[in-house]
Amino acid sequence: MAKVIDGKAIADAMMNELAVRIESLKSDHRAPALAVVLVGSDAASEIYVRNKIRRCEQLGVRSIEHRLPETTQQSDLLGIITSLNNDEQIDGILVQMPLPTHIDEKRVLNAIRPDKDVDGFHPVNVGRLSLGEADAIAPCTPQGCVTLAKSVLGPDLSGKRVAIVGRSNIVGKPAAALFLAENCTVQMLHSKTESPQQLAAQADILVVAAGRAHLVDESWVKPGAVVIDVGINRVQQPTGSKLLGDVDFDSVTQVAAAVTPVPGGVGPMTIAYLLHNTFQCYLKSVG
Ligand code: NDP
Repeated sequence: MAKVIDGKAIADAMMNELAVRIESLKSDHRAPALAVVLVGSDAASEIYVRNKIRRCEQLGVRSIEHRLPETTQQSDLLGIITSLNNDEQIDGILVQMPLPTHIDEKRVLNAIRPDKDVDGFHPVNVGRLSLGEADAIAPCTPQGCVTLAKSVLGPDLSGKRVAIVGRSNIVGKPAAALFLAENCTVQMLHSKTESPQQLAAQADILVVAAGRAHLVDESWVKPGAVVIDVGINRVQQPTGSKLLGDVDFDSVTQVAAAVTPVPGGVGPMTIAYLLHNTFQCYLKSVG
């Protein structure tokens, strides 16, 4: 049976360490500050934002909430981002996605100052990551995937074969850049890939970010592989709604060496890296 990777415990340890570092700097500097912008009342976004803010408070990071109505005009949102960009007391800016359909998400993300872009979605940070610059701000979830893989395999991932299911800009592509930077051999699989199972089953590390509940069963997994399940799929069941990963956990635990659960795997790591990125931006800001 596979080991279950405890993402919550790893994230908690990371955040405890961050809390100590923040506390030690507080006597000489202001607290780190993260601005969180939420437009509309999407239920899942509300939960994500609430969790992020709660974590900020626990770590001693000041959070500044901007809750805007669904009808907010793009120009008004851009105005708020400009003022947050110019506010030297703010280290990081997070705009919770998705935005209402009348707002151009790309335009909004591109308006965030790259050195405050804690999500790592700005083209400048995307470019720096793909150039392999060590201090590029990288997206949170993919950083979590690398750390979870290292928690099983140790710090040196050189030469490992990695297959990533999904090629989105927020998970798949940045995960590929990060594993490549760790000297892994990376293969990207997507909806047009032929025989994805066979390719996935050659990987030492399989990252699944497809947004398809239980897409991946044991036939996709090399015996002894580490499987990182990024997927979060809310499905209705007779007993009520339930969160399912992209990985069929019960099947995959029969062959893998280690698997992340959903929930409690990648999700907590995403928040931990949001705070990590905020802290990095803060360190640069306060010198
Ligand atoms: P997207 O919908 O943007 O991308 C999905 C990717 O999966 C696409 O590249 C798509 O291929 C590929 N794909 C879809 N179906 C298949 C298939 N049958 N076989 C192979 N590839 C397939 O999703 P995201 O990257 O934004 O998110 C993926 C999942 O991760 C979602 O469940 C999301 O909720 C979750 N997530 C979790 C986070 C966390 O913190 N735990 C953070 C972010 C996301 P193609 O490009 O060809 O269409």
